[in-house]
Amino acid sequence: MPAKRKAYSKMQCGGCKNINYFAHKSLMKKRKEGEQKLEAKKFCKHCKKHTAHKECR
Ligand SMILES: [Zn+2]
Repeated sequence: MPAKRKAYSKMQCGGCKNINYFAHKSLMKKRKEGEQKLEAKKFCKHCKKHTAHKECR
């Protein structure tokens, strides 16, 4: 399998710091560079609740 060169953003749980989700960078094109990081409320299976997930590199 060829190495994927597509850029993915990792979505890290604000509670347990586990990376639970990956998001395509292409989905985030609406944001301009330099803006604050994407944040989304998502379910964390480690915390067993919805937590704020932040984009990290
Ligand atoms: Zn968590």
